[in-house]
Amino acid sequence: MDMKSKPPVGWNGTTLKEMLAASERRFADTGHYQGLAELPIADRKPLLFERLHLKLRGALVSAREVARNISASPIVKELGELCFTVFTPEGDSVTLSTGIIVHVHTMSDVVKFMIRNDFEDDPGFAPGDIFCNNDVLAGNVHNCDIHTIIPFFWEGELVSWIAGVTHVPDVGARTPGSSPVGPMSTYDQGLTIPPQKIGENDRVFRAFRDMYKRTSRTPLLLELDEKTRLAGCVMIRQAIENLIREEGIDTYKQFMREAIEQGRRSFIRRVKRMLVPGRYRVPSFCDVPWENERGHLPQAAVNTLMNAPLEFTVNSDGTMKTTLDGASAWGFHTMNCSPSALQGGMWVMMCQSLADAESINDGAYFAMDQHFPRGSWTNPDNPEAGTAHAWHFLWSGLNGLFRFLSHGYHARGFIEEVVAGYGTTTNILYGSGLNMFGEPFAATNMEMTGAGLGARGCRDGLDCSYAMWNPESDIGDIETSWELWEPMLYLGRTVKPNTGGAGKYRGGNALESVRLVWKSQQAVFQHVGHGMVHVNCGLFGGYPSNTGYRRSAHDTDAFELIAKQAPLPTNDHDPEHSQVETMIKGRHIVDDNALTLPEPYSDGDLYVSVIQGGPGLGDPLEREPAAVVKDLAEGHLLPRFAERLYGVIAVQGPDGAWHVDVQATAARRAALRRARAEESVPVAQWLATETPRVQNGELPPWVRRMYQESIRLSTDWGGEFKAFWGIADGSAVYEPAAKK
Ligand code: MN
Repeated sequence: MDMKSKPPVGWNGTTLKEMLAASERRFADTGHYQGLAELPIADRKPLLFERLHLKLRGALVSAREVARNISASPIVKELGELCFTVFTPEGDSVTLSTGIIVHVHTMSDVVKFMIRNDFEDDPGFAPGDIFCNNDVLAGNVHNCDIHTIIPFFWEGELVSWIAGVTHVPDVGARTPGSSPVGPMSTYDQGLTIPPQKIGENDRVFRAFRDMYKRTSRTPLLLELDEKTRLAGCVMIRQAIENLIREEGIDTYKQFMREAIEQGRRSFIRRVKRMLVPGRYRVPSFCDVPWENERGHLPQAAVNTLMNAPLEFTVNSDGTMKTTLDGASAWGFHTMNCSPSALQGGMWVMMCQSLADAESINDGAYFAMDQHFPRGSWTNPDNPEAGTAHAWHFLWSGLNGLFRFLSHGYHARGFIEEVVAGYGTTTNILYGSGLNMFGEPFAATNMEMTGAGLGARGCRDGLDCSYAMWNPESDIGDIETSWELWEPMLYLGRTVKPNTGGAGKYRGGNALESVRLVWKSQQAVFQHVGHGMVHVNCGLFGGYPSNTGYRRSAHDTDAFELIAKQAPLPTNDHDPEHSQVETMIKGRHIVDDNALTLPEPYSDGDLYVSVIQGGPGLGDPLEREPAAVVKDLAEGHLLPRFAERLYGVIAVQGPDGAWHVDVQATAARRAALRRARAEESVPVAQWLATETPRVQNGELPPWVRRMYQESIRLSTDWGGEFKAFWGIADGSAVYEPAAKK
């Protein structure tokens, strides 16, 4: 068969594959995107450049705002979990809308995947074609993010790609929800759509629609989300047609390339201005405590500890290198990541912090070298590795990125840009069964976007309002976002005190909800949170934020209390003096198993959801006593912690108002500082007791296994680890012989 049977669709009679290869060659040769040493439009006609940029960006933002109203899913409609972007023919992002911009880079990978795998020949690219992907092997974070990608043609040439993504509520996995946590591999995590053509002439093939609707617990929501994505893409196509008519095709083509090169240069300028060259190591850890979980196949019933030894090198020319060398192994769970997800995750964080907000595109990606070791959770070497809940490791593993940037900002005096990190957006409530209308439901409650931001360099973190992956997210309205879909009533949704880490500036607190199961049948619900490990440390002496806990109450007297018009708990408040346990009779489950499989719930049962706060910054003993008293008054701090954490002696007057006892506070703080000095030992002494423990492997079994995995996967990282602790090469503790 003649492989050149179809005429090429690239520029000037070339194929897209040739265009992509030429683009990569020019970048490798010159260090400039498309070899652009000069930017004739941006530098000589800045007003034209701005006009093109603003018209295109405006079209994307307004397409997103209009299209989201087609969706019926609260995740898209209320929370804004969608975004649109425009790519060059080679798949490099030119500009983007607001929303889940983590996908600007993942969809870039999908376009490049199609080009590299000769989609130009089979099935071919033609005007009106529609492509789809949700497969992480081609480019995605997890399979509930579904991409719609259309080519844009002008006079026979493919001039741009236009793409949109939505985060759908259910992917038909073994357990319900957007990013299911019950599956153990790709084979039970539901819908997989590798890159493929799904329609022609702006219409989606019926067979494709029938397929995905049969593979989700929420078929109608998936169908409307599909229409949302396609409608947005078509609106953007019309806007680009108008733009080209007004400004000319050659100007548009040149603009796309200059916009990316300018994004790259502006990123490098910001690195030079705001950071300090050097090597930065900002590790994080995260647990999956499933050894005793009997709901899995045997391979998955293990306790896993994720090692994320995140490292950045800032070069003096403003370029950056990052590596996760030393990451632990992938496992039989759905928390593994693709490189594309990690690139997207880093990119979305850079966009909120370091990158110049006006020129965000793939330029920042071209300014950074990235390495994700093969075989680790960051780049599994087995296509069976599940990724449906990749965020569990992703938002934990990347937490150090803000700590790294903050060291640079602090050193350069950009104190107001410093941020200690963020709360991971968990707990997530998942569930399924029949709802109050007697219909099947799948719950993915995304009010976990009400996490806390870490403390800033000069003030406290934001309370109940931060999700690292969508800078513009929303917790959703109780009635229309959640109670309409989930057979559970909200008894309350409030600030959870002490979830933010203590510090001179405290981390933002997160929210807490108490839900009452109501008019359900065969319902199951699940806790998807972080349990035993502090996934985010504080900064400059600040404390980490809360770990997770699970609380539910079953066979309760809640409906009797309602009949008697007696009070109900609106929050759990202080877990050690639980409101739910005090006010509700029944079988209470409370422990630190914050990551569970779905469990049965009946009408009248209670489910408590606690989200995570942000880490703190600076020594808590340096916090203004007045700020501690304000936290007490506003319910951000449990009273007993004023003294324990902050050394503040607060007294409550007859009117209920809190006041600082200034003298007692000064004395208490002095005593706490003395106690610290007495407890402390010199580092050399600590190392002398710790080193034999590490050498002999006297560590909890899952900690030791984590280090074994990291050493097996990386000679460099393992070499440094062994050299630091004086561990002999081939130590049976850390490098056990492979089983026969
Ligand atoms: Mn998603």
